[in-house]
Amino acid sequence: MASFSFPDAPIIFWFRDDLRLSDNAALSAAVSSGKPIIPVFVLETDAKHTPYGGAQKWWLHQSLINLSDQIAKLGNRLILRSGNAKDHITQLVENTGAQSVVWNRRYSRFGIDTDTKIKTALHDDGITAHSFAGRLMHEPTLLKSGTGGAYKVYTPFWKMFAATITPRAPLATPKELPAIENAPASDELIDWNLLPTKPDWSGGLAENWKPGTKGAFDRLEKFLANGLGRYDRQRDFPAIEGTSGLSPHLAFGEISPAQIWARVDQVAEGLPIDDVTTFRKELVWREFAYHLLVNFTELKTENYNQQFNQFPWADNAEHLRAWQRGQTGYPIVDAGMRQLYDTGWMHNRVRMIVGSFLVKHLLLDWRHGEKWFWDTLVDADPASNTASWQWVAGSGADAAPYFRIFNPITQGEKFDADGEYVKRWVPELSKVPTKFIHKPWEAPSKILQFAGVELGETYPHPIVDHKQARERALDAYQTMRGLAA
Ligand code: FAD
Repeated sequence: MASFSFPDAPIIFWFRDDLRLSDNAALSAAVSSGKPIIPVFVLETDAKHTPYGGAQKWWLHQSLINLSDQIAKLGNRLILRSGNAKDHITQLVENTGAQSVVWNRRYSRFGIDTDTKIKTALHDDGITAHSFAGRLMHEPTLLKSGTGGAYKVYTPFWKMFAATITPRAPLATPKELPAIENAPASDELIDWNLLPTKPDWSGGLAENWKPGTKGAFDRLEKFLANGLGRYDRQRDFPAIEGTSGLSPHLAFGEISPAQIWARVDQVAEGLPIDDVTTFRKELVWREFAYHLLVNFTELKTENYNQQFNQFPWADNAEHLRAWQRGQTGYPIVDAGMRQLYDTGWMHNRVRMIVGSFLVKHLLLDWRHGEKWFWDTLVDADPASNTASWQWVAGSGADAAPYFRIFNPITQGEKFDADGEYVKRWVPELSKVPTKFIHKPWEAPSKILQFAGVELGETYPHPIVDHKQARERALDAYQTMRGLAA
């Protein structure tokens, strides 16, 4: 790693979405200078900043406790501040005599704008500010397509990535974090009110997750031992724990993709190449999402494919609410939405099914889905969430064509053949025979009675008819094409 020269004064290290001490490029550079470090986290409350959703607030609270403990073990203290980042960073510089500020880069529109302003203000005051690459395995502006622009299609992006990018060897955890004598004042984490209270819905999150770097590495090792060697064959079946579950740890930067990549390299020998390659490709989907985000900064709010500006979206609050609560009458959709609400996570296959259902069966704008996912996912990520929603909607780069409409019944029958996933998350259907588990409305009334199901009472009738909804979606697509022509 290139060595940086820092003035002979304390260095402020600003944590953001990189809540780890190991493989932290900016932190390693600061520590290698031998100067005292002032570690800071700012809860940014600016109006332009998309605030953390409810599930991520819960995660952030746990993760900051974890990070503070790790920092304390190295003889330092994490300073917490909330409000405007520029105000706090410049004030800390003034109060501590720091002459440098370092951080790892972020790539959302708000992140880039804020960091650029802060860097300029610091430089104007004669303070050194260095930003480092730490969130991804490559800088997302680096790869150019054959025509010199951004990639729009994943496969050529992957090919170029595989041919030209070698993720760096992960950096070690610092052995110490020398502190300054008089640490600046810090907020108390509990005063940030990140945890839900009335009602406290976080039980399912606590049962399923262990935020923090240790939780991330425990999960990685479990996946390498039991999941990686079968990943390609198992990753599409939501009833199986066939994927890594690393996404929230990556979202908060408790583990870096380079660390995952390096451990995969270490264990790959002897494992089926298809499984290992498919997993690597998924990690690179995350890089691709960031590539799209930096090259199209309005990805969160605007259709990548501008034709979709003419799309005749429906406006139906009742349908949206039924979708959010897992009450659509389509068991695989409801199972997914309930898994999300309970655990803050949903299986990727089911994310695609529920996404398609919202956008195509209900004809609701993908931005409603993006927003709900942002609020409820523990892994909500500014690039992956938006790029994936646009992919599902058909409005994104390399998107699933709008006219390819997921059938929630056959998707359920294919990927949850014995209904195990549905029965876990929609317990009122647990006695419905497998034959009808994905279409209970087709079951003879005697069978439903025996299973204790009364449609419209214990479980909803389908809120839309699949065939009619499909035709309505295709008509809407044709209308859009006509208007956009
Ligand atoms: P694994 O299968 O173990 O994959 C390993 C890692 O690769 C993941 O942790 C993730 O970082 C990355 N990855 C896998 N698939 C994708 C993908 N399609 N796009 C980008 N990165 C991927 N992922 C998020 O991290 N945050 C989001 O906010 C998010 N929103 C989504 C919204 C929709 C509508 C859809 C269809 C997908 C979304 N995804 C999102 C992508 C994907 O569903 C999750 O990354 C994956 O389910 C996380 O589980 P895992 O860690 O077990 O993944």
